[in-house]
Amino acid sequence: MTGAQPHDDAAFTVMGWCPNALRPMMSGDGLVLRVQPPGGRLTRAQAKALAGLALRHGNGLIDLSSRGNIQLRGIDGADHPALLDHLRAQDLIAAADRAEAARIMTVTPFADSATDRLAASLWSALRRAPQLPGKFGFVVDTGMAPVMQHVPGDIRLERDAAGGIILRCDGAALGAPVDPNNAAEAALALARWFCAAGGVTEGRGRMAALIARGIHPDDGLRGTVAPAPAATPPEPGPVAQGLLVGIALGQMQAATLAALAQVGALRVTPWRMLLIEGAQRCPDLPGLILHKDDPLRRVVACTGAPGCHQALRPVRDLARRLAPQVPQGRLLHVSGCAKGCAHPGAADVTLVATARGFDLIRGGTAQDPVARCDLTTDEIEIGSHF
Ligand code: SF4
Repeated sequence: MTGAQPHDDAAFTVMGWCPNALRPMMSGDGLVLRVQPPGGRLTRAQAKALAGLALRHGNGLIDLSSRGNIQLRGIDGADHPALLDHLRAQDLIAAADRAEAARIMTVTPFADSATDRLAASLWSALRRAPQLPGKFGFVVDTGMAPVMQHVPGDIRLERDAAGGIILRCDGAALGAPVDPNNAAEAALALARWFCAAGGVTEGRGRMAALIARGIHPDDGLRGTVAPAPAATPPEPGPVAQGLLVGIALGQMQAATLAALAQVGALRVTPWRMLLIEGAQRCPDLPGLILHKDDPLRRVVACTGAPGCHQALRPVRDLARRLAPQVPQGRLLHVSGCAKGCAHPGAADVTLVATARGFDLIRGGTAQDPVARCDLTTDEIEIGSHF
């Protein structure tokens, strides 16, 4: 069937929270448990241990999230307490439950020593954070070049054009200049202001929504300075800190993570890539993207069926098959339902699974009006839609 039609089976559940280690989320393949490596760093021992835990307690699949976290999949609920003990022993979750629940923090993988200090002090300060909504998070993007302006986060530490540190509310164009020595405390104060200003309703709320209502922080935290212009998005290949490698569709086998741990310590990025510290080359392991022109860099896909119980169809094999049809510089998003988890923004072409096939959307999100409906997997050819 062709012609513009609305989705007629677009219902999906918005959970309003992200899984963490203490509160895993049930999915179609068991519990999904999210680990937030401190500062986005994994030592070789931690990476090797995570790979072992993914095999011992899960189904061996490991996801990279768009906030620079690591997800273990297929966890048996009965294994959760033992898994938490192992993660604590590896220093991969906070000693106190409250501290673990509060910290959603994404740190630039291109951190210099000053950024490392800032991230560590914010990590520590978040133990004193107020009760924040489940998706509320912090971004530390104070490396030499700003690279995380499109990474989700409510409170953002960034640099201005002169190299100074600013504290910016998501949704605001300007940030407040802060002393690097006080930046973590200022971020904490901004989180408290967010709660006091009415940013949380029934446990939910985001900073950008509060700013959009015309509510801004008081003088000391009010934005007056623009962030530095964003740098070019990173690509797989050598960087000053080591080697960036892509993870196809954001998911790898535990064996791949274990093999990468042999090469070097890892920094987790929000771009479904890992930075191998100090490395210049890496073995061509299954699921790795080593070249910037790899067609798999032009597709994103969510978990789909059967791993997600909201999915109406499998999506990953279709995304792999269609990747060579996507022109350089364009993006195809294949989604298991209209929620569009893998890519909330617009893509050049989006395919959304339905009860009868896939709907095709040009230049929109998974929830936008469709251009073609109910295409069967076999008949989908997308080259003409770019
Ligand atoms: S978009 Fe994909 S991962 Fe998200 S709920 Fe739908 S099927 Fe599940």
